[in-house]
Amino acid sequence: MRGDTRQWIESDKSCAWHPFTPQDSWTDPSHEPLVLVKGEGVWLWDSEGRKYLDGNASIWTNIHGHGHPHVTGAIKAQLDEVAHTSYLGFANPRASELAERLVGLSPDGLDRVFFSDNGSTAIEVAMKMAVQYRLQTGEPERTGFVAFTNAYHGDTMGAASLGGVSRFFERFRGLGVTADFVRSVAELDALDADGMAAVVIEPLIQGVNEMRPWPAGMLGELRAWCDARGVHLILDEVMTGFGRTGTMFACEQESVVPDFLCLAKGLTAGYVPMAATLTREEIYDAFRGGPENAFYYGHSFTANPVGCAAALANLELFERDEVLSGLPAKITHLKNSLAAHFSGNPWVHEVRQCGMIAGIELRHPDGVGFSPDERVGERVSIAARGHGMLSRPIRDTLVFLPPLSIALEEIEWGLEAFSKAIGEVLG
Ligand SMILES: *Cc1c(COP(=O)(O)O)cnc(C)c1O
Repeated sequence: MRGDTRQWIESDKSCAWHPFTPQDSWTDPSHEPLVLVKGEGVWLWDSEGRKYLDGNASIWTNIHGHGHPHVTGAIKAQLDEVAHTSYLGFANPRASELAERLVGLSPDGLDRVFFSDNGSTAIEVAMKMAVQYRLQTGEPERTGFVAFTNAYHGDTMGAASLGGVSRFFERFRGLGVTADFVRSVAELDALDADGMAAVVIEPLIQGVNEMRPWPAGMLGELRAWCDARGVHLILDEVMTGFGRTGTMFACEQESVVPDFLCLAKGLTAGYVPMAATLTREEIYDAFRGGPENAFYYGHSFTANPVGCAAALANLELFERDEVLSGLPAKITHLKNSLAAHFSGNPWVHEVRQCGMIAGIELRHPDGVGFSPDERVGERVSIAARGHGMLSRPIRDTLVFLPPLSIALEEIEWGLEAFSKAIGEVLG
């Protein structure tokens, strides 16, 4: 190991603290974390010069690959103008352009954009707007939120209250917003709709819940259920937005227009943190009038010009490179390759796919799940590194969620690496 690698690891283990990470195993002397230093296209390099396919799109964010000159060029050009100015009391050119662009691009009816910093804050914004809207439109009793079992909407206290993964959220449950949880649209009927402000869902597929797609038509049914009862629909497209499921936004596939659309991860093509919450003009109207009606919410870096410049460059690339029209061929190729590599594999219990998202669930050949202590998903993903493939599993589900710019032969290459890794770990 090179001296600088050793030093970075030592500083990390003695001073830093990682997200979602049992720190004892992380800091164990036997654990040698990779130090990632460089990226180009779908490839990443570690500090030892080893090259990997970014099979997780750097935690589901990257769209056009790393180091794309159009995005980095836009970021550098903005840095030469100014890195940051306050959006509190001032406008900025890139934010104006981006707001207009997002309104034009999003489903008809979403006409206002509120910027923030990440997926969790995009959800916080929607939640606070949903509640304050009711206070200002004569329905103060509508304060309830409903989310889906095993949902994931982020980690800040409000967003976490809508999270259904008990391991992450249970210990904070009583401290945040109280929410009801359902498994299906039908279960909503058991709840008191008159007290509901909004229902929140990850459309088409739950990501953190081991990449589990919803039944076709479910989103449309949910929209109809909400419409019939005056309940708002918040769509968390933090993972699914920006082409990930095959259309610019997942909701387009069921012709659903939400009341709030939350965007983050892919918004800047995965280059810098930035988020947006889009809503309808009728909701915005309830916040007009005097100071008593204003939406008192914001962050220091709201509408950061560098983030906005990156997002504009991202959207330009979607258009210039006709990214969306190239996706069906990639999605079909992914589907065929998944079948070719895993349909006969006794350890693969189920392959789940939605657009350019794949989850490969491992179990014993008799269908019984592995014990969590065996850490099979983690061990297979680590073995895949040996074949040049980086990804992060969710329990025993391997995740393949590469940058959308991935080439067909790179898809093949990545799945081959998983296939070899399964063989090595499980035989
Ligand atoms: C990642 C994610 C979030 C949280 O976004 P952060 O930027 O990590 O705060 C929320 N919802 C979904 C569906 C996500 O995938």
